Amino acid sequence: MGVVLRHAVLVDLDPPGVQEGGLRLDGGFIASRGGVNAEPGDTVVDCGGAVVLPGLVNGHTHLYSSLATGMPPPRTAPTSFREILERVWWRLDQALDADGVETSARVGSLDAVRCGTTTLIDHHASPNFIVGSLDAVERGADEIGVRIVQCYETTDRHGPDGARQGLEENRRYLDKCARRRDGRYAAMAGAHAAFTLERQTLEELGALASVFEAGVHIHVAEDACDEQEIRRRFGMSLLDLLEQTGILRPASILVHGTHLDADAMPLLREHTPTVAHNPRSNMNNAVGYAPVAEFPCPVILGTDGIGSDMLTEARFAWFKARDSRASLSGEHVLAMLAGAARRASQALGVTLGRLEPAAAADVVVTDYVPTTPLTAENVFGHLVFGLGPQFAKDVMIGGRWVMQDRRMVTCDEKGIRRRAREQAAAIWKRMELLSE
Ligand SMILES: [Zn+2]
Repeated sequence: MGVVLRHAVLVDLDPPGVQEGGLRLDGGFIASRGGVNAEPGDTVVDCGGAVVLPGLVNGHTHLYSSLATGMPPPRTAPTSFREILERVWWRLDQALDADGVETSARVGSLDAVRCGTTTLIDHHASPNFIVGSLDAVERGADEIGVRIVQCYETTDRHGPDGARQGLEENRRYLDKCARRRDGRYAAMAGAHAAFTLERQTLEELGALASVFEAGVHIHVAEDACDEQEIRRRFGMSLLDLLEQTGILRPASILVHGTHLDADAMPLLREHTPTVAHNPRSNMNNAVGYAPVAEFPCPVILGTDGIGSDMLTEARFAWFKARDSRASLSGEHVLAMLAGAARRASQALGVTLGRLEPAAAADVVVTDYVPTTPLTAENVFGHLVFGLGPQFAKDVMIGGRWVMQDRRMVTCDEKGIRRRAREQAAAIWKRMELLSE
């Protein structure tokens, strides 16, 4: 028994395209596209001429920060990027216990679905609950039904024992996912940022990624301090260090790249890692503009923990580029959105981000009925100036409805939000006790 979506405007992102017609979804995959016929037992949904999108993918996020909304600011306002980390995010991650991690993942996944985002590439940190933390993230996500590609943010800032546990958690989860290969969960090797890691830990992460044929997910040159610190400690550029330690791999995700300069381009061209661009986070931390149009490697769009609303993130990618007078085209922004789905597809072993036969049945039915002509040439214009997250009405992941008529059907949303408020208050209280 399948589901037939009829009378839809199918919008493709990779490459941009528009087709009036329908989809038949069966067994967790798209069975057919175009003028589809219902088979006996199928459920038929009339989309009323509204846009249907492939499920969106967040190319870089931190589900652990889902309970940070409205969090009290630090007593002393940060004056640099490093102080933002020390006074805000490194206190929040230290305050997380097993329940806090699971609840954060559940709430972040729920909010993602509400915006039509069905897969998250997550970068997790909880230094006082490392071993088993990726299973806790998975439990939270599982209740909602999203797909996750995740890793633990290994760092040496809590000493060698903390680094060892981070490495071990990555190894454990890489092994778990390699055995399972279910298309729902996949693993990468995770690192915070080179400036908080020792060379040996970076080498071990590179080796781990090599053994599991995975990538390393790491923040790179988010602020100028990353490059400066590496030059001071190792007498070489940040990307040279990442190359020497085996981190610069085609499957790796380098997050931000805000301060990568012309010298970095040959290494990006040679090793073709993916760069994750997070315009809202870069604006919020005032770290500058990442020259994404100049990167000679795939670039994907992420939120860096500011929710999982990819349509809004795409708008910011556009507006920020315009404001910075950067030469970024609308097609480039669409490619970053589509690129996140491509990257997640490689990790998960299923085709995401495409409305075509054999791709995963991850679809977003909107109630956006275009009021101006919508064609392959102006998909971007509709995404930036018309079709926002508020139009996401029904969301299906792997053939299962997760949201219908804006109601979550896989979980008790009110109960989750009530319990999350209690958890958030407890986490914020624990944060107060941590020195800034
Ligand atoms: Zn990040």
